[in-house]
Amino acid sequence: MTPLAALLVDRIREGGPITVADYMAECLLHPQHGYYTTREPFGTAGDFTTAPEISQMFGELLGLALAQAWLDQGAPAPFTLAELGPGRGTLMADALRATRAVPGFHAAARAVLVEASPRLCDVQAATLAPHVVTWADRVEDLPDRPTFLVANEFLDALPIRQFLLSPEGWRERLVGLQDGALTFGLSAPLPQVPDTPAFRAARPGDLVEHCAPAHQAVTAALRPILRHGGLALFIDYGGWRSCGDTLQALRGHAFDPPLAHPGQADLTAHVDFEPLAALAPAHAYATQGQVLGRLGIDIRAERLARSLTGPALDSHRAALARLTDPAEMGSLFKMLALTRAGAPLPPGFA
Ligand code: SAH
Repeated sequence: MTPLAALLVDRIREGGPITVADYMAECLLHPQHGYYTTREPFGTAGDFTTAPEISQMFGELLGLALAQAWLDQGAPAPFTLAELGPGRGTLMADALRATRAVPGFHAAARAVLVEASPRLCDVQAATLAPHVVTWADRVEDLPDRPTFLVANEFLDALPIRQFLLSPEGWRERLVGLQDGALTFGLSAPLPQVPDTPAFRAARPGDLVEHCAPAHQAVTAALRPILRHGGLALFIDYGGWRSCGDTLQALRGHAFDPPLAHPGQADLTAHVDFEPLAALAPAHAYATQGQVLGRLGIDIRAERLARSLTGPALDSHRAALARLTDPAEMGSLFKMLALTRAGAPLPPGFA
């Protein structure tokens, strides 16, 4: 049993079953035993590899897309260049390098990172030196000015609740105990559930996931954008409606039962983009493969390939396929761009 599992068993024994959201929050961000607070999840030695860690092209193209959106909206200065959940800081580093040549962009940009793990803040500072960046603990703390924001695999780390439409009505999936070990169970029928398209469309036997913290984060990210202009770009795996149980744990690049190693496995859920898009007056939605293709990833890839040979060239080509191929991340991962009414559609989505 992991140290966090022991704490959770005690907590449930005293206070009764907890929601899947409580379980996820403890696993990911418990101050002593949480996954992001204690471990180095990224890369070959970690538990999973994210798009910016696969290739520099990802951060470069998204940085240039944000810079183009900034130009299209009249190059406001100063503006916040924000990233939510920056991991190792790789995406932001690649974005800053790629946008050096955009006149005025760096002079006007105030880079702000929203990160919950103090350990990862240190990693980000090291990656991004000598750039001047500041940190905010919460999305709500972003400054009140034009904001161009990116968040890759941030929403999938936010705690979800799960609800099952049983013959007696909606019940919530809970984490309780059986023979001293963590196990899933169901609550008594609930008087009320969230009012979203997925709940309204559910049929008996359906499991619907709901991520209130994602709604809060997107609403908070939109606040400065709706007042002063800007754009928010959310990239994640998921789809256009919650459908079934997508809670998953990854440990050492392999799937792990979600209750098996609390605090020692990454825990995520697919993002339901439909209710998040509805929070903004204007949105655009496409697959990662479509957007990267329209942003010119093939041309950028050819350019980089010219200076590569042998195994380096092979892995560069494999990285391109991994990011864009429908059989890899190209279709599963989606991009949602949110902005205010009347603002031009961001490049890559037109
Ligand atoms: N964007 C990075 C890392 C993705 S992992 C990449 O693509 O490589 C998720 C990131 O979100 C981590 O940096 C994690 O510490 C951070 N995070 C998770 N929950 C958070 C929360 N509630 N508030 C702020 N950051 C959070």
